[in-house]
Amino acid sequence: MPNFMEAFTNAAGKAKNATEVSNLKRKILYEQERIVEVFADIGRKYYKNPEEDPAVLKVLCEDVDTRRRRIKQMRFELNSIRGYKVCPKCDSEVNEKFQFCGVCGARLPEDDEDEDLNSLDSGDYYTESDDFFSADSVKY
Ligand SMILES: [Zn+2]
Repeated sequence: MPNFMEAFTNAAGKAKNATEVSNLKRKILYEQERIVEVFADIGRKYYKNPEEDPAVLKVLCEDVDTRRRRIKQMRFELNSIRGYKVCPKCDSEVNEKFQFCGVCGARLPEDDEDEDLNSLDSGDYYTESDDFFSADSVKY
């Protein structure tokens, strides 16, 4: 006989996760859009007045960093709800049970290796478009 309560609990858990996933996705999208707006704001301010007080622009840059950290944390949460981890090398989403990335073959961090969610590297822009920053990098 199937355990009704267990089935019920699982279904409730799945529904809760689905809500959390869509909330996180919505919040990430919001932050991504804000980042693009802040970048535009920085550009506009500099264009209008290249002598602009650098402190003003710095505040905006720090705002971008704060949002990027938020996105990084939310993506981490999102992936743990969905049972994924992100390959540190190629950014692919991989089942968290795997030890190696199926896309590039890199070794994946173990669960007990703490990921520093406050660190940002140059690849962590997380804007909705991957080539938003492509002008930054020269491709050969
Ligand atoms: Zn990979």
